Amino acid sequence: MTPPPPSPVWHPFTQHGLGEPIPLIDRAAGARLYDADGNSWIDAISSWWVTTHGHAHPRIMAAIRAQSERLDQLIFAGWTHEPAETLAAELVRITPDPLTRVFFSDSGSTSVEVALKMALGYWFNIGAARHRILVLEHSYHGDTIGTMSVGERGVYNRAWQPLLFDVGTIPFPHQGMEQATLDALEAACAARDAGDAPAAFIVEPLILGAGGMLIYPAWVLAEMRRICAAHGVLFIADEVMTGWGRTGTRFACDQAGVIPDIVCLSKGLTGGALPLAVTLCSEPVFQAHYSPDRARTFYHSSSYTANPIACAAANANLAIWRDEPVQARIDTLAEAQAAHLSILSSDPRVENPRRLGTIAAFDIKVSDAGYLSTLTPRLIAFYRDQGVLLRPLGNSVYVMPPYCTTPDELAQVWTAIAASLDIAG
Ligand code: PLP
Repeated sequence: MTPPPPSPVWHPFTQHGLGEPIPLIDRAAGARLYDADGNSWIDAISSWWVTTHGHAHPRIMAAIRAQSERLDQLIFAGWTHEPAETLAAELVRITPDPLTRVFFSDSGSTSVEVALKMALGYWFNIGAARHRILVLEHSYHGDTIGTMSVGERGVYNRAWQPLLFDVGTIPFPHQGMEQATLDALEAACAARDAGDAPAAFIVEPLILGAGGMLIYPAWVLAEMRRICAAHGVLFIADEVMTGWGRTGTRFACDQAGVIPDIVCLSKGLTGGALPLAVTLCSEPVFQAHYSPDRARTFYHSSSYTANPIACAAANANLAIWRDEPVQARIDTLAEAQAAHLSILSSDPRVENPRRLGTIAAFDIKVSDAGYLSTLTPRLIAFYRDQGVLLRPLGNSVYVMPPYCTTPDELAQVWTAIAASLDIAG
């Protein structure tokens, strides 16, 4: 093993014992990251799925600068500010009518924690003892104890499994198995024994991201929503990854005509520039907490809730969606992704090519498939040497670029991917 790194920084999801070099990035623009020596990398995974329009979009940067000179931070319990008010009103305007309330937090994980606490708070406050959460197999909702509890169990959360709470897991709707999924959800929703009646079902709509870019059809999502509604089980859509155009529409639920009771948004909410998240909910969820009784307060907060500078960045993001041809860029990128994937798919080493909107993925045939595939670190290093930032999930390679990525940049990404198949053997 290599000696421990000289830097005191302990990086996330990074095994420092492998001695992988860690590039020092100096600046970013559009789809590119640059180091101080002028080397550049194409950010083909949008810096962990956050960067939508491109790095350092001038309107978002200008909004951040302007806001930072006015109001940097404000306690959000009992106080408010214009950027948050504007943002909340605009989010309510662009989402379906039943979503009327906006709760701020600062990451995808916290938006999910808030969603779960809202759901349980709803049942508690209306006097029904429901606290069981239903989840979809292979899901990922974050890395806090609560979000790990509702996510897939595996090597990445093995050490903490004794602390994770029990959930009801619904099998993933693999092609041809959709009815089994729906039947399992129906049965779980219908459970009425003490402790078994579900409070909520949480789902990543249309595509499970960290679970391996697993795609399922819109009609299944619509059926899941129908089943939950029929049994009064709250439906939570985790659009942290799928939101803001990744799947081809602004929100994945739009493609299924699904209106959740609770929605989690983060990542592209600020165009990927600053950490911010929201959990939107329907009026009944809010009303269950609305009371002159302080004991029914929604007791959740973090220091930076609705940070004004992050809200200003999000308002600039929404203005970009209003004023610029974002949908046309998404459509063009989606088509280009489809074309590249289709060419690669003829290679016999490629399995399960799949695409949803701007996200393209496939599996490389290996004997040790899975999250700890020995191929993964070699692939990451290979792509880095080719000037491309990609981070396969095990032997599943995916491309999720910013919408400003040029045809030439995208071609460079797929050329690197095609070449990487040779190191798999
Ligand atoms: N939910 C989903 C679907 C995600 O993909 C992620 C992160 O990738 C999260 C929640 C957690 O978000 P964060 O990393 O911002 O806490």
